[in-house]
Parts: sequence; C-alpha cells; structure tokens
Amino acid sequence: MEDLNPFRIAHAQFARAARHVLISDGLLDTLARPERTTRIDFPVQMDDGTIRVFTGYRVQHNNARGPFKGGIRYHPDVTEDAIKAMAAWMTWKTAVMDIPFGGAKGGVVCAPKQLSMDEKRAITRRYVTQLGPTLGPMIDIPAPDVYTDATTMAWIFDTYDMTHKGQNNLPVVTGKPLELGGSHGRATATARGCLFCVEEAVGRGLVDGLQTLAGARVVVQGFGSAGAHAALFAQQAGATVVAVSDSTGAIAAPAGLDVARLQEHKRQAGSVCGFAGATAIPSADLLEMECDVLIPAALENQITAVNAERVRARLIAEAANGPTTPAADEILHRRGVPVIPDILANGGGVTVSYYEWVQNIQDEQWDAETVDAKLRRKMVSAFHTVFDIATEKRLDPRTAAYVLALDRVAHVTELRGIWP
Ligand code: GLU
Repeated sequence: MEDLNPFRIAHAQFARAARHVLISDGLLDTLARPERTTRIDFPVQMDDGTIRVFTGYRVQHNNARGPFKGGIRYHPDVTEDAIKAMAAWMTWKTAVMDIPFGGAKGGVVCAPKQLSMDEKRAITRRYVTQLGPTLGPMIDIPAPDVYTDATTMAWIFDTYDMTHKGQNNLPVVTGKPLELGGSHGRATATARGCLFCVEEAVGRGLVDGLQTLAGARVVVQGFGSAGAHAALFAQQAGATVVAVSDSTGAIAAPAGLDVARLQEHKRQAGSVCGFAGATAIPSADLLEMECDVLIPAALENQITAVNAERVRARLIAEAANGPTTPAADEILHRRGVPVIPDILANGGGVTVSYYEWVQNIQDEQWDAETVDAKLRRKMVSAFHTVFDIATEKRLDPRTAAYVLALDRVAHVTELRGIWP
C-alpha cells in the first residue's frame, strides 16, 4: 500500500531532487524542515449558543528569500502533516516563480459547508488573533486556499488592522476583495497561470499531435475557484471541456459543457450535478477519461499507484496542490505522460498575490491588463526554465522544478550566511 502522508510525500519529492543538486547535507537538512509549526486550539461560540473547540495550524517553512507566504484552508481533512507539506510546497513554488517570498501554509479543521457566515467569521478572527505576532505584512502573509475566499481575507485584514492602528496594513493578507486592496486578476490567477502553462506545453510539442488548444478535450477535477476558472479559460482558448466534477459528483458531455452556464448552475444548485445536457458519471472515472488535458483542481492524492496506469490524458496540469503521488509520478513518467507540477502549474495564484502585495505597499491599483501581462510573462519564463532543466538533465518535470527551487533557496541561504 502506497504511503499517502502528504509530508512524507513532499519529503520523497525533495529527496529525489536532492540527488541532482550540489548542496551540503546540513543545508539540505535545513531546507527539508519547517522553521516553525504552530498549533492552536481555540473556542468559538456557535450560533446556537454552544461552545466548540477548533484546531488550527500555521506552518512557516522557509523565509530565506522573503516573508513567509501561503494560503489558509478550511477543511475537515486538515492535518498538521498536510499543512507542513503544503508550506514546503509554497517555498518551492515561490522559488520556481522567482518571487521574493518564502513558504507557509495554514488551516483550520472544520466543515465550512456546515458553518454559518457568523461562525466562519468568528473562527477566522480568533485564529488570526491567536497567531499574534507571527503574522504581519513583512513577516507572514496569508491568502485564500480551499474553502476560503476574498471575504475570509477581508476578515483577516480587518482583524489585523483593528489591533495594529496607524500603519498601512493592507499587505498583511492577499486575495482581498477588489474594493479593499485586492488586485485585479487575483481571483482567477491560479487558473489563468495554469492555462498559460498548458498553452506553453502544447506549443513546446509536449502533447503529441496537438499544436494548439483549439479542439483539445479537457477534463477538470474540482469546480472551485481554480477548477471552474480553468475550465472557463480552456473553453475560451477553443478547447472542449468534456467532463468536470466537484465534491458532490461528476458530469460528462462529449460534445462539450457550456462552462459559463455550468457556473451559474453551480451557484444556484450548489453542485455541478443535474446540469442539463450532461450525464452523471462516477467521480473516480473522471480521472481515467480519454482526453488531451487533465486538470486536477481539487485536493491531494488523486492520481495514485491505484489509478495512474489507467489515466488516459496526454498532459496533466496540476492546478491543485499535491494531486499526484510519487508512485503515480513514476508510472506517468514511464508512460510518457508529461505532468506540469503544482509548484509551477498553480504558481499563478501566489504570483498575483505578490502583485497585490506590491500594489498595497505602493498604494496603487494596476489595471487588469497590466496584471495579466505580467502574470503571463512570469508563467512563460518559469515554465520554460523548468522544462529546459528537465530536458537538459533528463528529469521528470516535478524533479526539475524542485532542482530549480532547491538551487535558488540554497543559493540565497549561502549568500546570507547562517545566523549568527
Ligand atoms: N493557496 C494558494 C497556493 O496554494 C495561494 C497562496 C498565496 O497566494 O499566497 O498557492
């Protein structure tokens, strides 16, 4: 049975890449471990007057290249090891994207769909307050992740701002609403960046017989902020979105789904299921559908030793964090299926977070076209840097991305020297 512990998976990926870099064992050991792991247990008064205790984490993995940076997720499956893995992935992601941040991640164990707005706000305020001075505009900057959004970020900003008067606190969190210091393009940035990567992959000839996305068949797992927008952008690029899923089920339509209408349906019904003209399919079958591009945009550990052999996509672009396990990576590599790894494919989110942070510090608001053009340049450059390393060193793309990230973080650590 394959080990599905996310932190051990992140470590296995790290160890695989470590064989291809010239970094001392002591420094590698430093880079492998999170700098600080905070766990907090805090009470929240629920709408019915009862008190419930929630567990939250914030893991700060590395800040050699800049302040800690990473999202906060609200999900029942949040564990310390999952957050530790994702904090490390943020360090490698910001390094691959070449933006001046380190890596962190946070999470609260809860079932957000069963919570009212008031309860979610209370959880957010209490969680942020208890993290105290470990957060800050130049220290550690949260952002949205699974089941958190611009509204959650507005509460985080407000909580911090109420207790830090007399200074510009907007850069303490990114992914804020547009009218409260948010950036154009942030809500769609993960998907946008992912599609830029897919286009570059196709342009580089990585998908046999495919010259452009026009007419390509695309399957998207997850219809949250990354997945729904990825499906929409794929369709706008001329692709046919033949199947999508969310946590409630999966649907397929060989002639293509109208993604904008599906978004409307999901808004009203709370699910992609029951969309007119589409057929319900078992969720597990979605990943094994014949298609050109598969975009996992949900949770970790979706493509594993169990199903990797049956995946019939010709390209995989990871909008989610950690959707492919190391065993699946090996199978896909052997079968010649290129995987654009999460720390590259979904790096658009944190990249536009960086743009938001810069706009906040400079008290500016850039227009949507400026953000989009900057993001495209960043993604294209990161994509080719990673795939050039993969070609040159004959590595799978994930290992190549890790090699780039490890080299960048190690180099800066050596420049700074080990304190004191
Ligand atoms: N949660 C997103 C990620 O996993 C974005 C992080 C950020 O913008 O800081 O990349």
